[in-house]
Amino acid sequence: MNNSELFERACRILPGGVDSPVRAFRAVGGTPFFTVRGECACLVDEEENRYLDYVMSWGPLIFGHAREEIVRAVTDAAKKGLTFGTPTGAEAQLAEEIADAAPHMEMVRLVSSGTEATMSAVRVARGFTRRDKIVKFAGNYHGHSDGLLVRAGSGCLTGAVPDSLGVPASYAENTLVAQYNDLISVQELFDANRGEIACVIVEPVAANMGVVPPEEGFLQGLRKICDREGALLIFDEVITGFRVARGGAAQRYGVTPDLAAYGKIVGGGMPLAAYGGRRDAMSLVAPLGGIYQAGTLSGNPVATAAGLATLRLLREEQGTLYPALEQKGAALEAAFSRAGVSVGRVGSALTPFFTDRAPKNYSDALSCNTRAYAVYFREMLAAGIYVAPSQFESMFLSAAHSAQDIARTASAIECACRRAKEAK
Ligand SMILES: *Cc1c(COP(=O)(O)O)cnc(C)c1O
Repeated sequence: MNNSELFERACRILPGGVDSPVRAFRAVGGTPFFTVRGECACLVDEEENRYLDYVMSWGPLIFGHAREEIVRAVTDAAKKGLTFGTPTGAEAQLAEEIADAAPHMEMVRLVSSGTEATMSAVRVARGFTRRDKIVKFAGNYHGHSDGLLVRAGSGCLTGAVPDSLGVPASYAENTLVAQYNDLISVQELFDANRGEIACVIVEPVAANMGVVPPEEGFLQGLRKICDREGALLIFDEVITGFRVARGGAAQRYGVTPDLAAYGKIVGGGMPLAAYGGRRDAMSLVAPLGGIYQAGTLSGNPVATAAGLATLRLLREEQGTLYPALEQKGAALEAAFSRAGVSVGRVGSALTPFFTDRAPKNYSDALSCNTRAYAVYFREMLAAGIYVAPSQFESMFLSAAHSAQDIARTASAIECACRRAKEAK
């Protein structure tokens, strides 16, 4: 079957033909291709078309597709059994690797998705502080759990409304929404809810409204406010962890959160995520304490093997890997700049924005010309290059992207951006 036949078949049984909405290409038009395999930096679809891939499974694949050492670790583990329901030695080893990269991860719990990790970290903050309210930022995404699936309405200081049907308003009532890169909006929420806010959860580099870096002093300011107000600071490092530095955004910006959530890279391409942080707070997690959180497949041996192989490679190759990623990111940024397109970039995560200047927050991001982005997307795809099928996502680079790949992409970018700007 070809791509369109597969899509038709999928649409009859899967909502929208997909298992995660943004895969459906609705923001850019057209229908998705169906992948049969990945090779280094490329995807190959059912019609044997090859695409140079800058989605990288939405972030996990920092070593590209099917890196030999990681695949070997997975197949070796799988041969011994897929799940046991007992502890295995590898779980503590993976947790130790995480703590080695991010020393504030004094205790770690492994889970199966980023959604679970952030949701559970918030539960720990609430259980530890005995407070109910939380602060999040407009345009920051923390997975699809009820209380976090909330954006700002127009007024940042009003109680939030859920972003999805099926989330009772009462679930979102305790979620207060501040403006990214705006410390005053955070302080105002604390002033209006004295002694009631358990935590501030933030994407330390926002990457789900396109890449929006934290402004100088923003993360430091959050740290100060949380300390003063007795609230915990949670970094959602699901994208940034092991991406913007081996120690994530905490290392890159020199700000230490109380709790952090990891996903994507930490699972090496398998469904695995983690949360953790301060020992005093994590010591309240069951079975040690009264904060309940559990998972049949948590710390699954095959997923843990993939994560462990990935983090070991990162530790061994960090000296060359991160500078190389930085350089490739800068080369693509320069290509967009030559085409007159603004860019948000931190290391190997970047987004071209079809606006006059790169956004600082959610309302800036919403003002982008998404029609121009759609033209850019289709031009890139026609050139055999797969970028995120939405303006509000990131481009991800990997160790597998070669110098030739980058050079080819840079010229395709200039061409596609020119077309996109003509079209608007
Ligand atoms: C992807 C993502 C999540 C959710 O992770 P899933 O594994 O998709 O549940 C949470 N936070 C951020 C910042 C993410 O990018």
